[in-house]
Amino acid sequence: MNLKVNNRFIAELPADSNETNVPRQVKNACFSYVIPRIPSNPKLIHYTEEVLKLLGLSKEEAQSAEFKNVFSGKEVLTNTRPYSMSYAGHQFGNWAGQLGDGRAIILTEIENDQQTYTLQLKGAGLTPYSRGADGLAVLRSSIREHLCSEAMFHLGVPTTRSLSLILTGDQVLRDVMYDGHPDYEKGAVVCRVAPSFIRFGNFELFASQNDLKTLKTLTDFTVKYHFPEIKETNKESYIQFFQEVANKTREMIVHWQRVGFVHGVMNTDNMSILGLTIDYGPYGWLEDYNPNWTPNTTDRENRRYRFGNQPEIALWNLYQLANALYPLIEEAAPLESILNSFQNNYEVDYDNMMRNKLGLFTKEENDNQLIHLLTDNLQQTETDMTIFFRKLSQIKKTESEQDAFYHITDSFYKINEVKDQLKETWLYWFTQYLNRLRQEEATDADRKKAMDAVNPKYVLRNYMSQLAIEAAEKEDYSLIEELHLLLKNPYQEQPQSEKWFAKRPDWAREKIGSSMLSCSS
Ligand code: AMP
Ligand code: MG
Repeated sequence: MNLKVNNRFIAELPADSNETNVPRQVKNACFSYVIPRIPSNPKLIHYTEEVLKLLGLSKEEAQSAEFKNVFSGKEVLTNTRPYSMSYAGHQFGNWAGQLGDGRAIILTEIENDQQTYTLQLKGAGLTPYSRGADGLAVLRSSIREHLCSEAMFHLGVPTTRSLSLILTGDQVLRDVMYDGHPDYEKGAVVCRVAPSFIRFGNFELFASQNDLKTLKTLTDFTVKYHFPEIKETNKESYIQFFQEVANKTREMIVHWQRVGFVHGVMNTDNMSILGLTIDYGPYGWLEDYNPNWTPNTTDRENRRYRFGNQPEIALWNLYQLANALYPLIEEAAPLESILNSFQNNYEVDYDNMMRNKLGLFTKEENDNQLIHLLTDNLQQTETDMTIFFRKLSQIKKTESEQDAFYHITDSFYKINEVKDQLKETWLYWFTQYLNRLRQEEATDADRKKAMDAVNPKYVLRNYMSQLAIEAAEKEDYSLIEELHLLLKNPYQEQPQSEKWFAKRPDWAREKIGSSMLSCSS
């Protein structure tokens, strides 16, 4: 394979001097060298053509034995030394101490077309950070990560990418619902690709160890390669760096709220410093619009990471990052001011995003009320978020509120319960909305075009991945390819795929894997 290797991370950052993969506490080091586990019989089941191209690889190369071997951990690329990163983090609101890449192994960085990409295997075996776990990943969760990261990319959401999905040929023991019923599942390895996998937790680790030297080295490295617009390495530039991370994080969350994505585990070790969606675990897609929903059963009680709480958690996580960077800045005021403006900036961005979803080109003072009333209504009638917004663009300005309402009634899950009172609230909303549309100069066609560019027709509904998983367990990988292709054009009408533009089927409502997911992966 023709890959241009760049080893800047291991060349410029301090390594752990211990080179075994025995679980341990690692000090003063950004990473530890590791050797990926040799899979017994790697089998490539899917790859992403565009990611292949990003790396400068051809389709022929993807079919080679070398590709399958390298991206499953069987063979190490020449002139590279795989490693796992050290990091710490706050999990579910509590300090968790050292975590680190427990089952992620970075192969190297690759240069192509003036860009640098980090290649990371997920599920390639034990690392010093595996703690009590096995460092492996199962087919089920690997399919979810592979499909979702690509779906998110094509929706325009900042995310890590996924190059390949490879079966290892080995069995992995998992207790899916953590209820004492472990079972063997097929092991798999995904190769994730991103400019960097550095997380908030990488900075928290060194702050917690009071290792300011490594904290500074890591921050300078991150700024140099990932925030090149920041030229210096002084207090001012660290403040600017924090501002940039806050901006990127905010933008990512606005996108999540736009498409109805619930990450599920927004621990600080799962927050990318580049504002990328990272670590696809017990994530889920909002079907009926419910701000209290989280797919993660581990978070069932507090619902800390519920849909409606994601912006607040992002801010909470930024506080932890601010604390970690504080020793480099030694002034609280500028950090506090960035944190204080997060909320306001978020609200402005959120309202603009919702205006776009509603097809409003101009800004009015009362838009905020229109948006609030809408989200209330969506919730009351258990409305499918994706179908609702997509159908809303069919409305004509001159229509009556009754006719407008009938465009979207298909999106209700509680169809028989939308009786008098609820219908009245909807009609009231449509009266306001139609009035608002009539104030605008844009034509119905203009508005539809703009709305259909921000309201996806197809998202990776929870049950869709589950169907792909169930087929793949029986060695039928066709649905993985079908969904992968479908989700490459999520805003486009695809008449042959209309079946995926439908409400969640009843069987999937409370099904494990569809609406309920644990961290077991
Ligand atoms: P997560 O909640 O999946 O982001 O994982 C939190 C921490 O646990 C990270 O440090 C992971 O690398 C680690 N971890 C999760 N699953 C495994 C596993 N099967 N083997 C080893 N480490 C794991
Ligand atoms: Mg993680």
